[in-house]
Amino acid sequence: MLNHKLLEARDLKKYYPVTGGLLSRHRGDVKAVDGVSFFIKEGETLGLVGESGCGKSTLGRTILRLEEPTEGEIIYRGTDVTRLDKKALRELRREVQIIFQDPQSSLDPRMTVGRSIGEALLIQGLGDELERGQKVAEMLVQVGLEGQHAARYPHEFSSGQRQRIGIARALAVEPRLIIADEPVSALDVSVQAQILNLMLDLRQEFGLAYLFIAHDLAVIREISHRIAVMYLGRIAEMAGVKPIFENALHPYTEALLSAIPQVGRKKTRLLLPGSVPSPLNPPPGCRFHPRCHRVMPVCSQEEPVLKDVGGGHLVACHLY
Ligand code: SF4
Repeated sequence: MLNHKLLEARDLKKYYPVTGGLLSRHRGDVKAVDGVSFFIKEGETLGLVGESGCGKSTLGRTILRLEEPTEGEIIYRGTDVTRLDKKALRELRREVQIIFQDPQSSLDPRMTVGRSIGEALLIQGLGDELERGQKVAEMLVQVGLEGQHAARYPHEFSSGQRQRIGIARALAVEPRLIIADEPVSALDVSVQAQILNLMLDLRQEFGLAYLFIAHDLAVIREISHRIAVMYLGRIAEMAGVKPIFENALHPYTEALLSAIPQVGRKKTRLLLPGSVPSPLNPPPGCRFHPRCHRVMPVCSQEEPVLKDVGGGHLVACHLY
């Protein structure tokens, strides 16, 4: 892993205005991402974890400007992505690829797999027809399939194989960073492990960086160098894998960790009451306070800021 920052988000926000009434007045904003800052180094994997509805997928899409950011900066290799014109944005989308949870929906069922992967090359103006065909076959082999699979359609593959095809398509344009949005959540546990191993191998071989989004800390642990825990549009805690698993500070992280089954070890599961509140009306003070097992009077009054408590371990909680 190199030490250069490949991507940096600075106070990134993505709000969706809510209108209502006869005059369609602005009633408020769904604050899906509300002031998020982080960086990813070359070749590094940042795991982004949180319950569904915490804003992690929106964050991934906003980095690529599949959703336009409301505020903040996204610095990719020294350039602010939020200011890129169409041409420069296309170049960015070659270097930063995204893979989705459901490969079924991201592959056109009417296109052969070869055409789907080749299209990614065509959009980027890479190679002639012959070269594109060769690249497609090469990528399929790279992800553990066969070159001849290019002539088949997505429905002829298992869900795990389809995710391999999704990865091949992302890889074909030689990206530096892959945003992987719940890439193994829809797969059986044994297939999950295969896809995670494939992603680890590809990271090693191509020096890829990943923003790996998942709701499952056990999955995130396998692949990440650092982990960011997101709650209701903000980062609650961010640190290396070891500090998160051995010395989690934020009560939300503690609760997520306590939900991971561990063979042969008795531990108390911290129940998280209710679900993530609406980002339209986040609770005042600490957003987590209605569900927190360590809540204090100050928690409903003041919003804690994310601060470094030593060694790059960041936490947003009044306990620290
Ligand atoms: Fe819990 Fe208070 Fe910390 Fe929020 S600030 S996580 S409510 S202890």
